[in-house]
Amino acid sequence: MADIREFKADVTIKIDYDKCKGHGECVDVCPAEVYELVDGKSTAPRVADCIECCACVEACPEGAIEHSSC
Ligand code: SF4
Repeated sequence: MADIREFKADVTIKIDYDKCKGHGECVDVCPAEVYELVDGKSTAPRVADCIECCACVEACPEGAIEHSSC
């Protein structure tokens, strides 16, 4: 079964842990500091701060991030 983590506020961010390799591109690119790497995987603990710019979705080299607004 796919291992997809969901982070919800006004928007929903889904990170596919089968794809996430912990590159940290999302952490670096997000202007709202939504992301954090935990044990080599991306998490989105500050999803409520998201400004819906879609940079994370575009930056992820593994295509692991799905965003409800992007
Ligand atoms: S859409 Fe933009 S602000 Fe929201 S989590 Fe992604 S990079 Fe950060």
